[in-house]
Amino acid sequence: MSIQRTLSIIKPDAVARNLIGSINSRFEQAGLRIIAMKRIQLTKEQAKKFYDVHKERAFFDSLCDYMSSGPVVIQVLAGDNAVLKNREIMGATNPANAEIGTIRRDFGESIEHNAVHGSDSPESAEMEIRFFFSETDIID
Ligand code: ADP
Ligand code: MG
Repeated sequence: MSIQRTLSIIKPDAVARNLIGSINSRFEQAGLRIIAMKRIQLTKEQAKKFYDVHKERAFFDSLCDYMSSGPVVIQVLAGDNAVLKNREIMGATNPANAEIGTIRRDFGESIEHNAVHGSDSPESAEMEIRFFFSETDIID
């Protein structure tokens, strides 16, 4: 399996609760490398663009308000099968349904405030990484 990249976001609820280090150690313990990382606050417009695939969903406006409500940490993770591996480490969207030991089960507060974002396919990973980083920001 070749090295793959995926986009991760530590969401405002987790950043506010000082969980950046705890979450990063989950990635590293699972063998993923953090090859780019920045702390920013999204504008609502940026959040809407990023989550454009969900624009018809009932939760879209609330999600974009939430994602722009405080600082987030945006990162590129690299490793074998990184997209799927990160989805496993994160757990199910709703923390209540996530496996014990996953980030969302351990740190998520609700289906919306669920601590982390992770790309869902290699194709969306490519697009999402480009949304936030240029190649010169990524030091492999
Ligand atoms: P995932 O982040 O697991 O890929 P989705 O892409 O379906 O999940 O949804 C994007 C984000 O929207 C979720 O991580 C969560 O923050 C929020 N969300 C999803 N479903 C709901 C819902 N039913 N109510 C409120 N927020 C939701
Ligand atoms: Mg998704």
